[in-house]
Amino acid sequence: MALEKSMQNIKIFGVRFDNVDKDEAYKRFIGFMEESRLKTIYTPNPEIVMKAIENPAFKVILNEGDLVIPDGIGVVLASKIHHLGLRERVPGIELMELMLEYCNRAGKSIYLFGGKPNVAESAAKHILEKYPNLKVVGMQDGYYDKTKELKILDDINEKKPDILFVALGAPKQETWIHGHKKLINGSVAMGVGGALDVWAGTVKRAPVFFQKTGLEWFYRVIKQPTRVMRMLSLPKFMIKVLLTRHIED
Ligand code: UDP
Repeated sequence: MALEKSMQNIKIFGVRFDNVDKDEAYKRFIGFMEESRLKTIYTPNPEIVMKAIENPAFKVILNEGDLVIPDGIGVVLASKIHHLGLRERVPGIELMELMLEYCNRAGKSIYLFGGKPNVAESAAKHILEKYPNLKVVGMQDGYYDKTKELKILDDINEKKPDILFVALGAPKQETWIHGHKKLINGSVAMGVGGALDVWAGTVKRAPVFFQKTGLEWFYRVIKQPTRVMRMLSLPKFMIKVLLTRHIED
């Protein structure tokens, strides 16, 4: 029993990851679409795990996610080094793509919340070019005045999207979702980080070579040198992984 349990999810520095491959993550999402309560999907990478170590409240929020997928080669490497048995990396942007495909087939609706002004609009345009059958029922940038918070929630609930994609960066997006999940009308809310920028075309996803070799993070540093300080969390994470005896805690 204990073995089976450890196979279903693993912990890295106290952050719980569902031990799913991409297909299984997709199946869980489909299950969420059939339930009445809003379900949450988070996609921690090493940078986010490092933030969770420093911020226990954020760690609790991540651990209360209904589906938490390992987005980042560092997480998979940590599992390999410590024999935790994580199946594979499941990039959030790839699960999002499967979710959009599903919405297109089933005629479901989405709401895009986050990114700089016009990013959600531009992302919506490109999403609709590829998936003309889904409905983008609402959009809101992520640089709003705090006083607009309630209006945003009202707008989301008025539009009643099946899926709410929140791109405010971590930990803001997870904190927002967690704080509002009981108030949101919808099936799924997912934190998607920079994915709207990729859909908008303002940021390019790494070519397949970088994705396959686990060097997507390296490509991002070259393309966005301003991220270099943020990326330092990756070597810090790996050093911590190597120096820690029991990384589950
Ligand atoms: N963002 C936002 N509001 C904020 C802070 C960030 O909408 O107050 C957006 C930002 O414009 C970007 C996204 O959040 O589109 C996530 O950015 P980040 O680079 O942190 O995510 P990652 O690329 O690591 O997934």
